[in-house]
Amino acid sequence: MITINDQLLDRKITAITEIRVAVPTDFGGEMRPRDIVAVALVTGLLLSGCAGDDDDPTATDSPAPSAEGSASSTPSATASAPATDVDPASVKANELALVPVMMYHVVKPEAKGEYDQTPTEFKAELERMHEADFVPITVQELVAGDIDVPAGKHPVVLTFDDSSPQQIQIGADGKPTADSAVGILEAFETANPDFRATASFYVNGSPFNDPKAVPWLVENGYEVGLHTVNHINLKQSSDATIQKELTLNSEDIKAAAPDAVVNTISLPFGISPTNKSLIRGGSYEGKSYEIDGALLVGSNPAKSPFNVDFDPYAIARIRSGPKSKPVDTDSTYWLNLLEQGKWTPYTSDGDPEKISYPSTSSVKLGEKWADKGNEYDPDGATGSSGSSSGSTSSPNPSSTTSSTPASTPKSTSSGAPSSTSTP
Ligand SMILES: [Zn+2]
Repeated sequence: MITINDQLLDRKITAITEIRVAVPTDFGGEMRPRDIVAVALVTGLLLSGCAGDDDDPTATDSPAPSAEGSASSTPSATASAPATDVDPASVKANELALVPVMMYHVVKPEAKGEYDQTPTEFKAELERMHEADFVPITVQELVAGDIDVPAGKHPVVLTFDDSSPQQIQIGADGKPTADSAVGILEAFETANPDFRATASFYVNGSPFNDPKAVPWLVENGYEVGLHTVNHINLKQSSDATIQKELTLNSEDIKAAAPDAVVNTISLPFGISPTNKSLIRGGSYEGKSYEIDGALLVGSNPAKSPFNVDFDPYAIARIRSGPKSKPVDTDSTYWLNLLEQGKWTPYTSDGDPEKISYPSTSSVKLGEKWADKGNEYDPDGATGSSGSSSGSTSSPNPSSTTSSTPASTPKSTSSGAPSSTSTP
């Protein structure tokens, strides 16, 4: 493997972005920047630079064969906001762009593992996401396309795996203890009311070693999902074992919190079963489970659920770990790239009934969402006029019809899929 330090990597990415070497400028697909750099270095693509291939010629993913698993049955945890009259161009709405799904494990003062964070680091990351105008939603909401955040804001998903006691403990006052991850998140929302305290927790047997925790999470608008009772490797398990593990995992959660809707999974180790149908549904001893969304382990922002290439059973995540030991493509890495305008986040139009995106988007709207689609002319942003649709010729001679970042890096379209590699 080629080892490249981060500074060098960043420089190479800048170079790649500038000359558009067959790579989506926003890293919208599953391709990892480091892989891209390695390929570019090895093959000399940086020199040959096929400028103009901005629109992801490698997009061969077929749409997810998931229609029968219908992700649309998920109830909303958010009250729907009143429709707004915000001009989508004025907030650069792009609801086909990328949604970061952050992956957390243990938050504790003596964070040592590669997935651990100290409370200070966790708080700092919340602060950074808040300053970048992110608002948390759940995985259920992502998968159902039930994304209700204010105009100009970006959805982010916070996920926690393995149900460790440091994630939540219920204190004598009936609330999460202040030093737990949920306690920190709740306090952050109190101080910053526009940063909704919610997250999706993927639990094993005896979650959090606290029987009060799952009921509290469900009652307070958090999601609790599947991670198998014994954290098994699904590829090394029989069909019968997988169904037993997931049915009992689901039944445990519902026994603790009868109102819980359990319909998403974080795949242990990010590994899918050979029999893929088992991460859509199964049964054991007369009980059954149904799954509408499955999370992988790495390593880049996820596609919008409205992207025609969104696969709800292979949702990418960004790992978040110790800031003292940064790793490839972790949360700091992606937040840095966002600050540099190197990828485009999903930006809300403020109206949950519309899916707004600029006519320059290289990402296609999924057919099932056609009724809600609202393509607008991004050049309409400057005037007071609304979005007249359909115009492909731009009044600005310097802007091309494609999604090339002709003017500023920020104006790139989002989420172009590329080849899929599952970590
Ligand atoms: Zn795990």
